[in-house]
Amino acid sequence: MFGRAPKKSDNTKYYEILGVPKTASQDDLKKAYRKAAIKNHPDKGGDPEKFKELAQAYEVLSDPEKREIYDQYGEDALKEGMGGGGAHVDPFDIFSSFFGPSFGGGGGSSRGRRQRRGEDVVHPLKVSLEDLYNGTSKKLSLSRNVLCSKCKGKGSKSGASMRCPGCQGSGMKVTIRQLGPSMIQQMQQPCNECKGTGESINEKDRCPGCKGEKVVQEKKVLEVHVEKGMQHSQKITFPGEADEAPDTVTGDIVFVLQQKDHAKFKRKGDDLFYEHTLSLTEALCGFQFALTHLDNRQLLIKSNPGEVVKPDQFKAINDEGMPMYQRPFMKGKLYIHFTVEFPDSLAPEQCKALEAILPPKPASNKLTDMEIDECEETTMHDVNNIEEEMRRKQAHAAQEAYEEDEEMHGGAQRVQCAQQ
Ligand SMILES: [Zn+2]
Ligand SMILES: [Zn+2]
Repeated sequence: MFGRAPKKSDNTKYYEILGVPKTASQDDLKKAYRKAAIKNHPDKGGDPEKFKELAQAYEVLSDPEKREIYDQYGEDALKEGMGGGGAHVDPFDIFSSFFGPSFGGGGGSSRGRRQRRGEDVVHPLKVSLEDLYNGTSKKLSLSRNVLCSKCKGKGSKSGASMRCPGCQGSGMKVTIRQLGPSMIQQMQQPCNECKGTGESINEKDRCPGCKGEKVVQEKKVLEVHVEKGMQHSQKITFPGEADEAPDTVTGDIVFVLQQKDHAKFKRKGDDLFYEHTLSLTEALCGFQFALTHLDNRQLLIKSNPGEVVKPDQFKAINDEGMPMYQRPFMKGKLYIHFTVEFPDSLAPEQCKALEAILPPKPASNKLTDMEIDECEETTMHDVNNIEEEMRRKQAHAAQEAYEEDEEMHGGAQRVQCAQQ
């Protein structure tokens, strides 16, 4: 698409289709198209292929820039330059721009000017885990474009509009850059004069309500219902509440839930996870505590008599997890993860007291003095984070392997250099 020298190809066909000489003026072209298009309109029994050809020929020749390319390089240059050059022009659109949509421009069938769909507007919506547990509603004030009520979205007092002179009503402009003696580059962009609408409104006829813009800004309050059990990144859609524009099906406003982190709870699907730290005495001799749930209920959590809780142990409570979306009476599980805090050191008399109560040390680990004499002395140091230590080791090994590799190749290169 860029900078290829276009081959010369047929550059008379379009003139022949319209039945005009190569010197035809814009007026001649218009007259010729108008006459032929009415005669060949499919609704009047004309040949659809011929009707399409007419539109294509007129579309190119009525645009001075495209006409110049066509005259110089022919049809293929247009096709190469802009991905089909008029091939995807709707012949009924061109016809309507002459005679208006009421005159056989599809006659209300789907063949007429198709309605564009406006863009959806997406807003993130921050919610707490409490909001998702209990459900809530949030009022949000948004401003949006709505069709001007004074002119019903026409933009003019009289309701009339003209074809934009900048783009001949197509809404697009083709710009051409000369890249070399026989190289051109074409770019198609929305027309800046009419903002791509293809229409322009006489200054005196402009609607005072919207200054010819066809739309006005309106503030609107939307009430978003966050239902129990909704999930992070779930969407809540307000159909047809996005910006309005003429000849456009209004898009949706979409809120995407963003769950904020919770200080105590974590959520996994319908389950909740809660972290709790026990002292060693609690872990060995029993504990109880009040857990404040997401709806502010106090749950009594306690161990069974004589039960010992081990470090890293999980316990679960049924039906105290998250409510399920659209089945809020069903709930997941609440998992409690226990961490046990051990004392850092003990005094000799504490050890003695504990040894008297705790189960005896295993006899198999007892060594005789002779056996100890035969052993080598060792020193143990603390490893605070074993994963971190392993990662560091791997990174070190990789670095060494790389350096070795460098040395070999670097050496070979030096030898080569010396030979030259
Ligand atoms: Zn324009
Ligand atoms: Zn208006």
